[in-house]
Amino acid sequence: MDLKKYIREIQDYPIEGINFKDITTLLKDEKAFRQVVEEISSYFANKGITKIVSLESRGFIVGGAVAYCINAGFVPIRKKGKLPSKTVKESYELEYGTDTIEMHEDALSEDDVVLIHDDLLATGGTALAALKLVQQMNVKKVYFSFICDLKFIENGNKDILSQYETHSLVEY
Ligand code: AMP
Repeated sequence: MDLKKYIREIQDYPIEGINFKDITTLLKDEKAFRQVVEEISSYFANKGITKIVSLESRGFIVGGAVAYCINAGFVPIRKKGKLPSKTVKESYELEYGTDTIEMHEDALSEDDVVLIHDDLLATGGTALAALKLVQQMNVKKVYFSFICDLKFIENGNKDILSQYETHSLVEY
């Protein structure tokens, strides 16, 4: 199944110049959704992953399903102010201004092998901020998973991320 066909592209959303990859059209198709979850799960099944760390909010959908399939725990990273207990924080650059993400400070331990999952890798700013949060917990190892990778965007963030084993299903 060609998953790319299930991803709708919306020009100039949320701002002019962005070609938005809308995965809701993939998620609503039961076969495509299952394929995404099964492909990611089988790739990571034997890597000893203990926690899936996913990013609000589109990352939660497939991240949660993969955690269930590979028998790992699930840890949410959320935008500032949404998590109820003590958190670690990381700010990162957006096209305009900055954003801050948070994770509970007791979410991970030194024994964890972590898979960071998000729906899409663009500039890598979000994924790098997630990596910095996870690294604060001195975990054993970190992997990355994305449904979509916008390969045509190249920058220093991606040079850092390329040091980690990464799986993506659809490339642009
Ligand atoms: P970045 O930090 O630039 O790698 O952006 C990744 C985050 O922004 C992900 O959480 C995506 O959901 C979202 N995102 C960035 N660009 C797009 C795009 N073209 N289509 C859909 N989502 C995007």
